[in-house]
Amino acid sequence: MALERLLKGFADFRLGYYHDHLDLFEKLATEGQSPKILIVGCADARVDPGILTQTKPGDIFTVRNIGAMVPPALDPPDSQQHGTSAAIEFAVRGLQVEHIVILGHALCGGIAALVDGDKSAFADYDYLSTWTAIAQDVRDLAVDKLKGRPKDDILRAVEQAAVVNSVQNLMSFPWIAERVKAGTLVLHAWWFNLTKGQLYAFNPAALAFEPVLGISLAPTVGKATPLSAIAPSRFIDAIAGRPPSF
Ligand SMILES: [Zn+2]
Repeated sequence: MALERLLKGFADFRLGYYHDHLDLFEKLATEGQSPKILIVGCADARVDPGILTQTKPGDIFTVRNIGAMVPPALDPPDSQQHGTSAAIEFAVRGLQVEHIVILGHALCGGIAALVDGDKSAFADYDYLSTWTAIAQDVRDLAVDKLKGRPKDDILRAVEQAAVVNSVQNLMSFPWIAERVKAGTLVLHAWWFNLTKGQLYAFNPAALAFEPVLGISLAPTVGKATPLSAIAPSRFIDAIAGRPPSF
């Protein structure tokens, strides 16, 4: 894409969308942002959370990284730079969001690199494998338990298990766990299959990602969800025991 397309896009935005939503932008400028939803998505250019959910400016607070991953909380926090944790902290403690959505997706390059490990073309990158190692245990377990399955099945399984792993990691932040327990914050594990244009949500009771049909409410991880239900190892065991469903 030539960079001119971005400038043409901005010109169109300014004359079109911005002009049509002047009241909204004025409200956001004067009153500030108050999104109720945080989405942790992948940096992948094909899975823009705002486009997928057709939201307006101000609706969702978004952090995107490689693989839509959430690292575990540090106790105590160290003095390194933690971009994703900082964004989550601001959304939860500052903006008081009521929902956090982890949005993984099919054909994720970050997950593929994690699965390929030393054989990955990106194995000698400076930061990539350190980051995706957030889901290293999940990857190792899935590769072991799904041995003999087609590579695509393993990739899809690790993509989904990494989302569950990130939800589990969210619960390691004390200010998230206490809000979930109080019922003021609900967690959602979603996975988007861009090949089919289908969204799936993790159902802790079924240990499965189920298609989200229409606008019926998708399963969530809330105060009634036992922590054992979001253990990635249990999810991987469940996947290993049934045919693939994605
Ligand atoms: Zn991705």
